[in-house]
Amino acid sequence: MNYRNFPMVPRVVFGRGSFSQLNDIITPKRKSINAPFIFLVDDVFRNNTWLTSRIALAYDDRVMFISADQEPTTSQVDDLVESIILSTKERPSGIIGIGGGTLLDLAKAVSIMLTNKGEAKDYQGWDLVKNPAIYHVAVPTISGTGAEVSRTTVLTGPERKLGINSDYTPFDQVILDSELTKDVPTNQWFYTGMDCYIHCVESLTGTYLNAFSQSYGEMALQLCEEIFLTDNLSKVDAQEKLMMASWHGGMSIAYSQVGVAHAMSYGLSYLLGTKHGIGNCIVFNHLEEFYPEGVKTFKAMKKKHNILLPEGICANLSDKEFDIMINVSLSLEPLWENALGKHWKKTITPKKLRSLYEKM
Ligand code: NAD
Ligand code: ZN
Repeated sequence: MNYRNFPMVPRVVFGRGSFSQLNDIITPKRKSINAPFIFLVDDVFRNNTWLTSRIALAYDDRVMFISADQEPTTSQVDDLVESIILSTKERPSGIIGIGGGTLLDLAKAVSIMLTNKGEAKDYQGWDLVKNPAIYHVAVPTISGTGAEVSRTTVLTGPERKLGINSDYTPFDQVILDSELTKDVPTNQWFYTGMDCYIHCVESLTGTYLNAFSQSYGEMALQLCEEIFLTDNLSKVDAQEKLMMASWHGGMSIAYSQVGVAHAMSYGLSYLLGTKHGIGNCIVFNHLEEFYPEGVKTFKAMKKKHNILLPEGICANLSDKEFDIMINVSLSLEPLWENALGKHWKKTITPKKLRSLYEKM
Protein backbone atom coordinates (compact mmCIF):
# COMPACT_ATOMS: atom_id res chain seq x y z
CA MET A 1 0.00 0.00 0.00
CA ASN A 2 1.34 3.38 -1.00
CA TYR A 3 -0.30 6.12 1.08
CA ARG A 4 -0.74 9.52 -0.46
CA ASN A 5 1.29 12.41 0.85
CA PHE A 6 -1.32 15.11 0.77
CA PRO A 7 -0.49 18.86 0.78
CA MET A 8 -2.56 21.16 2.96
CA VAL A 9 -3.14 24.90 3.02
CA PRO A 10 -0.21 26.14 5.13
CA ARG A 11 -1.80 29.35 6.41
CA VAL A 12 -5.33 30.28 7.33
CA VAL A 13 -6.98 33.19 9.08
CA PHE A 14 -10.42 32.69 10.57
CA GLY A 15 -12.54 35.52 11.91
CA ARG A 16 -15.35 37.93 11.29
CA GLY A 17 -13.84 41.00 9.63
CA SER A 18 -10.49 39.33 8.95
CA PHE A 19 -10.71 40.32 5.28
CA SER A 20 -9.36 43.71 6.41
CA GLN A 21 -6.03 41.99 7.13
CA LEU A 22 -5.56 40.93 3.53
CA ASN A 23 -3.23 43.79 2.70
CA ASP A 24 -0.97 43.17 5.70
CA ILE A 25 -0.82 39.48 4.88
CA ILE A 26 0.17 39.82 1.23
CA THR A 27 2.48 42.82 1.42
CA PRO A 28 5.55 40.80 2.51
CA LYS A 29 4.97 38.56 -0.52
CA ARG A 30 5.49 41.36 -3.02
CA LYS A 31 8.47 40.46 -5.22
CA SER A 32 9.10 43.92 -6.67
CA ILE A 33 7.25 47.07 -7.64
CA ASN A 34 6.91 45.62 -11.13
CA ALA A 35 5.39 42.35 -9.94
CA PRO A 36 1.78 43.18 -9.11
CA PHE A 37 -0.89 41.38 -7.17
CA ILE A 38 -3.83 40.43 -9.35
CA PHE A 39 -7.20 40.27 -7.62
CA LEU A 40 -9.75 38.08 -9.37
CA VAL A 41 -13.05 39.22 -7.91
CA ASP A 42 -16.59 37.94 -8.48
CA ASP A 43 -18.46 40.41 -10.65
CA VAL A 44 -21.28 40.42 -8.12
CA PHE A 45 -19.08 42.74 -5.99
CA ARG A 46 -18.38 45.25 -8.77
CA ASN A 47 -20.46 47.99 -7.13
CA ASN A 48 -20.02 46.77 -3.58
CA THR A 49 -17.73 49.34 -2.01
CA TRP A 50 -18.07 47.70 1.42
CA LEU A 51 -15.92 44.92 -0.02
CA THR A 52 -13.89 46.54 -2.80
CA SER A 53 -12.78 49.55 -0.73
CA ARG A 54 -10.82 47.15 1.46
CA ILE A 55 -8.69 45.92 -1.44
CA ALA A 56 -5.63 48.15 -1.24
CA LEU A 57 -3.94 48.52 -4.61
CA ALA A 58 -0.31 49.62 -4.99
CA TYR A 59 2.03 50.01 -7.98
CA ASP A 60 0.63 47.96 -10.88
CA ASP A 61 -1.81 45.89 -8.82
CA ARG A 62 -5.07 45.19 -10.59
CA VAL A 63 -8.59 44.05 -9.89
CA MET A 64 -10.24 41.93 -12.58
CA PHE A 65 -13.99 41.44 -12.12
CA ILE A 66 -15.15 38.09 -13.43
CA SER A 67 -18.68 36.73 -13.76
CA ALA A 68 -19.51 33.49 -11.96
CA ASP A 69 -22.54 32.85 -14.17
CA GLN A 70 -20.65 30.11 -15.95
CA GLU A 71 -18.27 27.60 -14.44
CA PRO A 72 -14.60 28.11 -15.32
CA THR A 73 -13.30 26.80 -18.61
CA THR A 74 -9.77 25.99 -19.71
CA SER A 75 -9.90 28.61 -22.48
CA GLN A 76 -11.04 31.26 -20.00
CA VAL A 77 -7.99 30.44 -17.88
CA ASP A 78 -5.71 30.67 -20.94
CA ASP A 79 -7.20 34.06 -21.88
CA LEU A 80 -6.77 35.42 -18.36
CA VAL A 81 -3.18 34.22 -18.22
CA GLU A 82 -2.41 35.80 -21.58
CA SER A 83 -3.93 39.13 -20.60
CA ILE A 84 -1.99 39.11 -17.32
CA ILE A 85 1.29 38.30 -19.06
CA LEU A 86 0.74 41.00 -21.68
CA SER A 87 -0.11 43.68 -19.12
CA THR A 88 2.56 43.09 -16.48
CA LYS A 89 6.25 43.97 -16.52
CA GLU A 90 7.19 40.99 -14.41
CA ARG A 91 5.51 37.78 -13.36
CA PRO A 92 2.88 38.77 -10.75
CA SER A 93 3.65 38.49 -7.04
CA GLY A 94 0.40 36.69 -6.43
CA ILE A 95 -3.16 35.92 -7.43
CA ILE A 96 -5.95 36.61 -4.96
CA GLY A 97 -9.30 34.94 -5.68
CA ILE A 98 -12.33 36.57 -4.04
CA GLY A 99 -15.65 34.80 -4.57
CA GLY A 100 -17.16 31.33 -4.62
CA GLY A 101 -15.86 28.08 -6.03
CA THR A 102 -15.83 29.59 -9.52
CA LEU A 103 -13.46 32.42 -8.64
CA LEU A 104 -11.35 30.27 -6.34
CA ASP A 105 -10.86 27.67 -9.07
CA LEU A 106 -9.93 30.39 -11.55
CA ALA A 107 -7.39 31.82 -9.12
CA LYS A 108 -5.82 28.39 -8.61
CA ALA A 109 -5.68 27.61 -12.31
CA VAL A 110 -4.29 31.01 -13.31
CA SER A 111 -1.58 30.82 -10.66
CA ILE A 112 -0.54 27.41 -12.04
CA MET A 113 -0.63 28.43 -15.68
CA LEU A 114 1.56 31.50 -15.06
CA THR A 115 4.49 29.17 -14.39
CA ASN A 116 3.67 26.21 -16.62
CA LYS A 117 3.93 26.05 -20.41
CA GLY A 118 1.11 25.23 -22.81
CA GLU A 119 -2.62 25.37 -22.23
CA ALA A 120 -4.75 24.67 -19.17
CA LYS A 121 -6.36 21.67 -20.85
CA ASP A 122 -2.96 19.93 -20.95
CA TYR A 123 -3.00 19.75 -17.15
CA GLN A 124 -6.51 18.37 -16.56
CA GLY A 125 -5.91 15.15 -14.73
CA TRP A 126 -3.73 13.99 -11.88
CA ASP A 127 -0.22 15.26 -11.13
CA LEU A 128 0.58 16.71 -14.54
CA VAL A 129 1.77 20.10 -13.26
CA LYS A 130 5.58 20.44 -13.40
CA ASN A 131 6.38 23.79 -11.77
CA PRO A 132 5.12 25.31 -8.53
CA ALA A 133 2.35 27.88 -9.02
CA ILE A 134 2.82 31.49 -8.02
CA TYR A 135 1.61 32.59 -4.58
CA HIS A 136 -2.19 32.31 -4.45
CA VAL A 137 -4.73 33.33 -1.86
CA ALA A 138 -8.39 32.40 -1.39
CA VAL A 139 -11.04 34.65 0.06
CA PRO A 140 -14.29 32.66 -0.08
CA THR A 141 -17.51 34.69 -0.17
CA ILE A 142 -19.92 31.73 -0.18
CA SER A 143 -19.49 28.45 1.69
CA GLY A 144 -19.79 24.84 0.67
CA THR A 145 -17.58 23.70 -2.18
CA GLY A 146 -14.43 23.17 -0.14
CA ALA A 147 -12.51 24.68 -3.07
CA GLU A 148 -10.65 26.81 -0.51
CA VAL A 149 -8.97 23.72 0.88
CA SER A 150 -8.91 21.21 -1.96
CA ARG A 151 -6.11 19.95 -4.17
CA THR A 152 -8.05 20.48 -7.37
CA THR A 153 -9.37 23.20 -9.65
CA VAL A 154 -12.33 21.98 -11.66
CA LEU A 155 -12.32 23.15 -15.27
CA THR A 156 -14.48 22.43 -18.27
CA GLY A 157 -12.24 21.84 -21.25
CA PRO A 158 -12.82 20.98 -24.89
CA GLU A 159 -12.96 17.27 -24.13
CA ARG A 160 -13.80 16.90 -20.50
CA LYS A 161 -14.79 18.48 -17.24
CA LEU A 162 -11.92 17.51 -15.01
CA GLY A 163 -9.78 19.13 -12.37
CA ILE A 164 -6.15 20.08 -12.38
CA ASN A 165 -5.26 17.88 -9.40
CA SER A 166 -1.76 18.55 -8.18
CA ASP A 167 0.39 19.28 -5.16
CA TYR A 168 0.74 22.85 -6.48
CA THR A 169 -3.00 23.49 -6.65
CA PRO A 170 -3.83 24.20 -2.96
CA PHE A 171 -3.80 27.80 -1.83
CA ASP A 172 -0.83 29.24 0.04
CA GLN A 173 -3.14 31.32 2.18
CA VAL A 174 -6.85 31.30 2.96
CA ILE A 175 -8.83 34.04 4.65
CA LEU A 176 -12.07 32.81 6.20
CA ASP A 177 -14.23 35.82 6.95
CA SER A 178 -17.85 34.70 7.26
CA GLU A 179 -19.07 38.28 7.06
CA LEU A 180 -18.34 38.18 3.34
CA THR A 181 -21.09 35.57 2.93
CA LYS A 182 -23.83 37.66 4.55
CA ASP A 183 -25.60 38.66 1.32
CA VAL A 184 -25.69 35.32 -0.48
CA PRO A 185 -29.25 34.76 -1.78
CA THR A 186 -31.14 31.93 -0.04
CA ASN A 187 -31.34 29.59 -3.03
CA GLN A 188 -27.64 29.87 -3.78
CA TRP A 189 -26.81 29.49 -0.07
CA PHE A 190 -28.76 26.25 -0.12
CA TYR A 191 -27.28 24.86 -3.37
CA THR A 192 -23.68 25.55 -2.40
CA GLY A 193 -24.32 24.47 1.20
CA MET A 194 -25.76 21.20 -0.09
CA ASP A 195 -22.59 20.66 -2.10
CA CYS A 196 -20.90 20.39 1.28
CA TYR A 197 -23.61 18.13 2.68
CA ILE A 198 -23.33 15.85 -0.35
CA HIS A 199 -19.53 15.75 -0.05
CA CYS A 200 -20.03 14.41 3.48
CA VAL A 201 -22.64 11.80 2.56
CA GLU A 202 -20.61 10.57 -0.41
CA SER A 203 -17.41 10.42 1.58
CA LEU A 204 -18.90 8.80 4.68
CA THR A 205 -20.76 6.09 2.76
CA GLY A 206 -17.96 5.42 0.27
CA THR A 207 -15.71 2.39 0.07
CA TYR A 208 -12.64 4.65 0.25
CA LEU A 209 -13.58 5.81 3.74
CA ASN A 210 -10.85 5.87 6.37
CA ALA A 211 -10.52 7.40 9.83
CA PHE A 212 -8.94 10.58 8.43
CA SER A 213 -11.85 11.29 6.07
CA GLN A 214 -14.41 10.10 8.54
CA SER A 215 -13.33 12.48 11.28
CA TYR A 216 -13.68 15.50 8.99
CA GLY A 217 -16.80 14.17 7.28
CA GLU A 218 -18.67 13.54 10.51
CA MET A 219 -17.83 16.99 11.79
CA ALA A 220 -19.04 18.64 8.60
CA LEU A 221 -22.18 16.53 8.46
CA GLN A 222 -23.08 17.45 12.01
CA LEU A 223 -22.54 21.14 11.27
CA CYS A 224 -24.74 20.91 8.15
CA GLU A 225 -27.54 19.27 10.09
CA GLU A 226 -27.33 22.00 12.69
CA ILE A 227 -27.32 24.77 10.10
CA PHE A 228 -30.00 23.44 7.79
CA LEU A 229 -32.34 21.68 10.21
CA THR A 230 -32.41 23.60 13.47
CA ASP A 231 -33.76 27.04 14.35
CA ASN A 232 -31.56 27.97 17.23
CA LEU A 233 -28.55 29.42 15.42
CA SER A 234 -27.99 33.13 14.98
CA LYS A 235 -27.24 34.29 11.45
CA VAL A 236 -23.62 34.91 12.33
CA ASP A 237 -23.24 31.47 13.92
CA ALA A 238 -24.82 29.82 10.91
CA GLN A 239 -22.47 31.65 8.55
CA GLU A 240 -19.39 30.79 10.59
CA LYS A 241 -20.41 27.17 10.96
CA LEU A 242 -21.11 26.74 7.27
CA MET A 243 -17.68 28.14 6.51
CA MET A 244 -16.13 25.50 8.75
CA ALA A 245 -18.40 22.77 7.39
CA SER A 246 -17.15 23.61 3.89
CA TRP A 247 -13.56 23.34 5.09
CA HIS A 248 -14.11 20.01 6.82
CA GLY A 249 -16.14 18.62 3.93
CA GLY A 250 -13.29 19.50 1.60
CA MET A 251 -10.79 17.85 3.93
CA SER A 252 -12.96 14.77 4.10
CA ILE A 253 -12.99 14.20 0.34
CA ALA A 254 -9.32 15.09 0.08
CA TYR A 255 -8.45 11.70 1.47
CA SER A 256 -11.41 9.80 0.02
CA GLN A 257 -13.64 10.65 -2.95
CA VAL A 258 -17.08 11.88 -3.89
CA GLY A 259 -19.68 9.55 -5.39
CA VAL A 260 -22.80 9.07 -7.50
CA ALA A 261 -24.27 12.59 -7.26
CA HIS A 262 -21.02 14.19 -8.36
CA ALA A 263 -20.43 11.70 -11.15
CA MET A 264 -23.89 12.37 -12.57
CA SER A 265 -23.85 16.10 -11.96
CA TYR A 266 -20.64 16.41 -13.98
CA GLY A 267 -22.59 14.96 -16.91
CA LEU A 268 -25.35 17.56 -16.54
CA SER A 269 -22.83 20.31 -16.25
CA TYR A 270 -20.86 19.22 -19.32
CA LEU A 271 -23.91 18.93 -21.57
CA LEU A 272 -26.31 21.52 -20.18
CA GLY A 273 -24.02 23.90 -18.30
CA THR A 274 -25.91 23.15 -15.06
CA LYS A 275 -23.89 24.64 -12.23
CA HIS A 276 -22.26 22.43 -9.64
CA GLY A 277 -24.37 23.23 -6.55
CA ILE A 278 -27.79 23.11 -8.15
CA GLY A 279 -26.76 20.19 -10.38
CA ASN A 280 -25.78 18.15 -7.35
CA CYS A 281 -29.13 18.96 -5.71
CA ILE A 282 -31.10 17.96 -8.82
CA VAL A 283 -29.27 14.64 -9.00
CA PHE A 284 -29.12 13.87 -5.28
CA ASN A 285 -32.89 14.36 -4.97
CA HIS A 286 -33.28 11.14 -7.02
CA LEU A 287 -30.62 8.98 -5.39
CA GLU A 288 -32.59 7.27 -2.60
CA GLU A 289 -31.44 3.85 -3.75
CA PHE A 290 -27.79 4.78 -3.20
CA TYR A 291 -28.05 7.15 -0.23
CA PRO A 292 -31.37 6.44 1.56
CA GLU A 293 -30.61 8.31 4.80
CA GLY A 294 -28.80 11.19 3.14
CA VAL A 295 -31.55 11.81 0.60
CA LYS A 296 -34.23 11.70 3.30
CA THR A 297 -32.42 14.37 5.30
CA PHE A 298 -31.73 16.39 2.16
CA LYS A 299 -35.45 16.45 1.38
CA ALA A 300 -36.23 17.62 4.91
CA MET A 301 -33.71 20.46 4.52
CA LYS A 302 -35.13 21.39 1.15
CA LYS A 303 -38.63 21.53 2.59
CA LYS A 304 -37.60 23.55 5.60
CA HIS A 305 -36.12 26.26 3.41
CA ASN A 306 -38.81 26.17 0.70
CA ILE A 307 -36.39 25.31 -2.05
CA LEU A 308 -37.93 24.31 -5.36
CA LEU A 309 -35.62 22.46 -7.71
CA PRO A 310 -36.01 22.55 -11.49
CA GLU A 311 -37.65 19.45 -12.92
CA GLY A 312 -37.64 17.83 -16.32
CA ILE A 313 -34.29 19.25 -17.36
CA CYS A 314 -33.54 16.04 -19.31
CA ALA A 315 -37.04 15.76 -20.79
CA ASN A 316 -36.21 16.84 -24.32
CA LEU A 317 -32.76 15.42 -24.77
CA SER A 318 -31.88 13.33 -27.83
CA ASP A 319 -30.30 9.87 -27.62
CA LYS A 320 -27.01 11.43 -28.64
CA GLU A 321 -27.20 13.98 -25.85
CA PHE A 322 -27.99 11.31 -23.28
CA ASP A 323 -24.97 9.38 -24.50
CA ILE A 324 -22.67 12.37 -24.10
CA MET A 325 -23.86 12.88 -20.56
CA ILE A 326 -23.63 9.19 -19.72
CA ASN A 327 -20.10 8.93 -21.11
CA VAL A 328 -18.88 11.93 -19.14
CA SER A 329 -20.36 10.45 -16.01
CA LEU A 330 -19.03 6.93 -16.57
CA SER A 331 -15.53 8.25 -17.23
CA LEU A 332 -15.29 9.35 -13.58
CA GLU A 333 -14.27 5.87 -12.48
CA PRO A 334 -12.83 6.68 -9.02
CA LEU A 335 -16.12 8.31 -8.04
CA TRP A 336 -18.11 5.21 -8.99
CA GLU A 337 -15.60 2.90 -7.40
CA ASN A 338 -15.76 4.87 -4.18
CA ALA A 339 -19.56 4.81 -4.20
CA LEU A 340 -20.13 1.19 -5.13
CA GLY A 341 -16.90 -0.73 -4.89
CA LYS A 342 -14.61 -2.36 -7.44
CA HIS A 343 -17.43 -4.11 -9.28
CA TRP A 344 -19.51 -0.98 -9.87
CA LYS A 345 -19.74 -1.68 -13.60
CA LYS A 346 -22.08 -4.56 -12.87
CA THR A 347 -24.77 -2.22 -11.58
CA ILE A 348 -23.98 1.04 -13.33
CA THR A 349 -24.64 0.46 -17.02
CA PRO A 350 -25.44 3.13 -19.61
CA LYS A 351 -29.04 1.94 -19.49
CA LYS A 352 -29.21 2.37 -15.73
CA LEU A 353 -27.75 5.86 -15.94
CA ARG A 354 -30.19 6.83 -18.64
CA SER A 355 -33.12 5.74 -16.53
CA LEU A 356 -31.81 7.88 -13.66
CA TYR A 357 -31.20 10.93 -15.86
CA GLU A 358 -34.69 10.56 -17.32
CA LYS A 359 -36.16 11.21 -13.85
CA MET A 360 -34.38 14.56 -13.58
P1 NAD B 1 -20.09 30.22 -7.53
O1 NAD B 1 -18.73 30.71 -7.29
O2 NAD B 1 -20.37 29.67 -8.88
O3 NAD B 1 -21.13 31.37 -7.21
C1 NAD B 1 -22.52 31.10 -7.24
C2 NAD B 1 -23.31 32.40 -7.27
O4 NAD B 1 -23.22 33.06 -6.02
C3 NAD B 1 -22.77 33.38 -8.30
O5 NAD B 1 -23.87 34.01 -8.92
C4 NAD B 1 -21.99 34.37 -7.47
O6 NAD B 1 -21.90 35.62 -8.08
C5 NAD B 1 -22.81 34.40 -6.21
N1 NAD B 1 -22.12 34.85 -5.00
C6 NAD B 1 -20.93 34.40 -4.50
N2 NAD B 1 -20.65 35.02 -3.34
C7 NAD B 1 -21.68 35.88 -3.10
C8 NAD B 1 -21.96 36.81 -2.05
N3 NAD B 1 -21.18 36.93 -0.98
N4 NAD B 1 -23.09 37.53 -2.13
C9 NAD B 1 -23.95 37.38 -3.18
N5 NAD B 1 -23.73 36.52 -4.19
C10 NAD B 1 -22.60 35.77 -4.14
O7 NAD B 1 -20.58 29.16 -6.45
P2 NAD B 1 -19.96 27.91 -5.73
O8 NAD B 1 -21.09 26.98 -5.56
O9 NAD B 1 -19.18 28.35 -4.56
O10 NAD B 1 -18.92 27.31 -6.76
C11 NAD B 1 -19.24 26.44 -7.80
C12 NAD B 1 -17.98 26.13 -8.54
O11 NAD B 1 -17.06 25.50 -7.67
C13 NAD B 1 -18.15 25.20 -9.72
O12 NAD B 1 -17.45 25.71 -10.82
C14 NAD B 1 -17.54 23.89 -9.25
O13 NAD B 1 -17.00 23.12 -10.29
C15 NAD B 1 -16.48 24.39 -8.30
N6 NAD B 1 -16.08 23.41 -7.28
C16 NAD B 1 -14.78 23.27 -7.04
C17 NAD B 1 -14.32 22.40 -6.08
C18 NAD B 1 -12.86 22.24 -5.83
O14 NAD B 1 -12.47 21.48 -4.96
N7 NAD B 1 -12.01 22.94 -6.53
C19 NAD B 1 -15.23 21.66 -5.32
C20 NAD B 1 -16.59 21.82 -5.58
C21 NAD B 1 -17.01 22.73 -6.55
ZN1 ZN C 1 -18.97 19.22 -4.95
